[in-house]
Amino acid sequence: MRLTPRQEQIIEIVKENTPITGEKIANKLNVRRATLRPDLAVLTMAGLLEARPRVGYFYSGKTPYMLIAEEIRHLKVMEVKSVPVVVTEDASVYDAIVALFTEDVGTLFIVTNDSCLVGAVSRKDLLKVALGQGDLHKIPVQVVMTRLANIITVSGEESVYDAASKLVVHEVDALPVVEVISEDSDREMLKVIGRFTKTTVVRIFVEMGEGR
Ligand code: ADP
Repeated sequence: MRLTPRQEQIIEIVKENTPITGEKIANKLNVRRATLRPDLAVLTMAGLLEARPRVGYFYSGKTPYMLIAEEIRHLKVMEVKSVPVVVTEDASVYDAIVALFTEDVGTLFIVTNDSCLVGAVSRKDLLKVALGQGDLHKIPVQVVMTRLANIITVSGEESVYDAASKLVVHEVDALPVVEVISEDSDREMLKVIGRFTKTTVVRIFVEMGEGR
């Protein structure tokens, strides 16, 4: 967030005179109280100043970066996830390539008939097999997918910051958003309820840039 010179001045005045009323800030800047109203509204909405009725303005001590950090650690995956794009485990590589185009995504999640996650394929996994000699209709997608044991997932309750960190640390483009449906068998059963991708992060970034 870039502050105007006057907003910077207001912050300095409040820092030195906490708490201070709007009237007194206006006096120090030689302007009318009404002139300052939009600036004070912006600074309070952004969380840089706190306003207490009949007391005045306080400096929150938070920098714009701290406020962005707070926002992305607070925002949950559940609130921003997209619908999952999946193919069932009996699909062929050909089917998966068609789904990649028709659904306009870069990663597909592979599921059982009852939506349990079994793997993921990226566009490069599919490109690699398409460069080979085999008949793509006959090669099961299961042969080329990354298997469940190696899949990095995220839950709807995790923060956008945690999910984005997983994309960076594990160098993948997309995470399945999952719900644990059973833990009693040998392997965990995970239901795919959404996807969190690099595009999701870019969208949040743009929305924040627009002040939303
Ligand atoms: P691309 O291969 O098109 O660059 P990614 O970087 O997302 O796309 O995928 C790299 C590899 O990681 C691929 O082999 C893919 O199957 C696998 N992969 C994709 N998503 C995940 C995930 N969420 N967890 C673990 N592995 C994944």
